[in-house]
Amino acid sequence: MTQKEKLVVIGNGMAGVNTVEHILKLAPNQFDITIFGSEPHPNYNRILLSYVLAGDSKVDDIVINSYEWYKEHGISLYTGETITKINTESKTVTSDKGTTISYDKLIISTGSNAFMLPLPGADKEGVIAYRTIQDCEYMMEAAKNYKKAVVIGGGLLGLEAARGFLNLGMKVDVVHICDSIMERQLDRTASKMLQDKLESQGMNFLLNKQTEKILGKDRVKGLKFSDGSKVDADLVVMAVGITPNVQLAVDAGIEVKRGIVVNDFLETSIKDIFAVGECAEHRGIGYGLVAPLFEQGAVLAKNIAGVDTNPYEGSVVYTKLKVSGVDVFSGGQFIDGENTKSIKIEDEFSGIYKKVLIRENKIIGAVLFGDTSDGSRLMQMIRNETDITGFEKAAILQEPGENGNAGSSVADMSDEEIICGCNGVSKGEICSAIKEQGLTSVEEVKNCTTASRSCGGCKPLVNDLLEYTLGDEFDKSAQKETMCECIDLEKDEIVTQIKEKGLSHVREVMSVLGWKNDEGCSKCRPAINYYLGMVNPEQYKDDSTSRFVNERMHANIQKDGTYSVVPRMYGGVTNPADLKKIATVAEKYNVPKVKITGGQRIDLLGVKKEDLTNMWEELDMPSGYAYGKAVRTVKTCVGEEFCRFGTADSMGMGIQIEKRFERLNTPAKVKMAVSGCPRNCAESGIKDLGVVAIDGGWELYAGGNGGVKLRKGDLVSTVKTEAEVIEYTEAYLQYYRETGVYGERTSEWVERLGVQHIQDVLADETKRKELCGRMDTALSVLKDPWKEAVKSEKIQKDLYEVIEAK
Ligand SMILES: Cc1cc2nc3c(=O)[nH]c(=O)nc-3n(C[C@H](O)[C@H](O)[C@H](O)COP(=O)(O)OP(=O)(O)OC[C@H]3O[C@@H](n4cnc5c(N)ncnc54)[C@H](O)[C@@H]3O)c2cc1C
Ligand code: SF4
Ligand code: SF4
Repeated sequence: MTQKEKLVVIGNGMAGVNTVEHILKLAPNQFDITIFGSEPHPNYNRILLSYVLAGDSKVDDIVINSYEWYKEHGISLYTGETITKINTESKTVTSDKGTTISYDKLIISTGSNAFMLPLPGADKEGVIAYRTIQDCEYMMEAAKNYKKAVVIGGGLLGLEAARGFLNLGMKVDVVHICDSIMERQLDRTASKMLQDKLESQGMNFLLNKQTEKILGKDRVKGLKFSDGSKVDADLVVMAVGITPNVQLAVDAGIEVKRGIVVNDFLETSIKDIFAVGECAEHRGIGYGLVAPLFEQGAVLAKNIAGVDTNPYEGSVVYTKLKVSGVDVFSGGQFIDGENTKSIKIEDEFSGIYKKVLIRENKIIGAVLFGDTSDGSRLMQMIRNETDITGFEKAAILQEPGENGNAGSSVADMSDEEIICGCNGVSKGEICSAIKEQGLTSVEEVKNCTTASRSCGGCKPLVNDLLEYTLGDEFDKSAQKETMCECIDLEKDEIVTQIKEKGLSHVREVMSVLGWKNDEGCSKCRPAINYYLGMVNPEQYKDDSTSRFVNERMHANIQKDGTYSVVPRMYGGVTNPADLKKIATVAEKYNVPKVKITGGQRIDLLGVKKEDLTNMWEELDMPSGYAYGKAVRTVKTCVGEEFCRFGTADSMGMGIQIEKRFERLNTPAKVKMAVSGCPRNCAESGIKDLGVVAIDGGWELYAGGNGGVKLRKGDLVSTVKTEAEVIEYTEAYLQYYRETGVYGERTSEWVERLGVQHIQDVLADETKRKELCGRMDTALSVLKDPWKEAVKSEKIQKDLYEVIEAK
């Protein structure tokens, strides 16, 4: 048996491991592979740290290759171990823990270090970089105890860190040395638009500021600037750039300039030693984004595996800011120069700005703000240096075929070109997977190749590749996010058809719109029932057979088949008479457990089905809807009536809101809260709608969620009076009812529509009044389901005697 060659990789990061993945595909049995990584983790997606910090992902979610993956591929992995020496004579590497391993081929992929400004005080506790899981965990932990962060650096990384801090409930200042943010990716117009948008999300900018000193004794307390001004800070993150991690190479006598110098095949100045990723310098350029590193990795893997390859000739880079509700894209060259001309669209009403820069009739760069859907197409035209002679110029900013020939198709891309930058998936890999595995949808491509698994920005390109690879077999309708497998229509199409065709029953909708399955399924039937009721509140008769069991029974079914009964308790306020009544009923029906819920109500748990209607009758209280896709609770603090800090009557406000909206059907459950001052004891920041009293008024926070996907609500309006709180809440809830997809919580809805959009709708008086009008109608027809059940023998027979709950 021939001996395998020994391949050693220094650096267990994105570029090194991506190269190994390629090598395993090209030559699975050629090498004995050993990887060293300083960090105590398997390989993870560093890009997605910003999502972890923003609370949208967990550390486990961003691991690319688990420990099992290394084992399965026979890779020896040394985590938490740093290589401190390369001996090019003996062809060995040695770690800080004393491990020495010999290599036939060596890849250096040590990445970069975050650059720390050498400021006086930079060594104080609470001053950190933003580069690793450890940094991210430190920031999240610090946010629990400290309230004010300062980020030095208004570039991509700094802004993502700042957004993360806002999500963690901290106040944040972004200090930047220039007078505009992301100046290396955006022109002034786009930069200003971005700044405005981020300010509206709560970020504060200190531009044109040079930090002179970090203040504090042991721990940071603030910053002092060269103009003499100061700011407070409990935590300082430096996001001012990176320096390639090259000391190891320098010590080994490998040629290093800013990065480790490599040729077009990623070879260093010493035979059998290669470098890839941020530590490398190719044709004078070091790249700080993953797409080029993956392109390098593909070439290096072929070179090492002895497979013919084209040289790596450099990359055109593009950036996208990963901040929810903000769409920014920048690629290639974007600053106007002497020999450049540009095509621009600026729509101040919609907050959209698009600019394409052209030199000698070739597209050389683009900046997009507010609508980045043209990004992938323009990027291809930049990469391909598309000659636009003969193009209708304005059409360059439109989809191909819309108006003149402005297209550039995926057909022109080389197989090596990276489609999904987050996960390093090339066009070739996607096309082969489509052909070999018979894939037909973006979802299938995602599951099979991981392309678009992360931020999803490349979905349109994946879709184009499906169309290009499958040709006539490509089924456009299969690409839509349809309501469910019973129908090829999306939610909006169904609602439009209900309105246009005047449809009024669940079965009618299914038969007129061509349901594939006569009975529908558990996903579509409740949704149609909801949409019909939302469109026609006055005429529509609710179809209880299209509701989930909890809603059909008007009580939560528990895991042992018993039910729970939760009477409504407006604003969490009760009285002795009601308490006595609840106690008496609980005793009479041997309720095994009585519990206070998280929403400040009393839960009678373990009730037998046959006792439900009698209990409701004896309680004679309204249903708390603890089971429904409906308005559930309005949690309140004690407020000004009793609290020393309260500035408003939070209990009274909560009771008013709950009385106004009780029983309202919504796309998903809705929980609200009212706090009597910014101390926020009712936790209004994590509710579907949170109301917080402030000096002289109320703040309304939308889209908060305390559930599995914790999300902090966004401030959408500040109003003065109680009547306005009700008016804005009406408009907000009605807009959610009309535009939400059934099953979608407000947290997802707010992110889908964008906070700005919701702010705009609420601020528009005409729209607000219209929404309130439709809400009035919706509320006017609601009846309490418990009372209905008590009154109706038929309901009692049908639901509580005859049909067994499944
Ligand atoms: C928060 C954040 C967000 C980002 N967002 C984006 C984005 O949206 N888009 C984008 O394209 N790029 C983004 N980047 C940049 C991207 O993550 C990097 O370009 C990429 O990770 C670089 O890959 P690499 O393998 O060269 O280095 P790394 O991924 O940094 O890997 C290098 C690894 O080598 C290890 N190492 C170093 N020296 C040694 C040694 N002597 N012995 C053993 N191990 C060693 C290090 O510990 C490290 O784990 C972001 C970066 C950060 C920090
Ligand atoms: S999932 Fe695709 S789009 Fe996101 S970064 Fe990834 S590459 Fe870009
Ligand atoms: S939020 Fe304010 S008013 Fe309400 S209980 Fe807390 S401190 Fe008192």
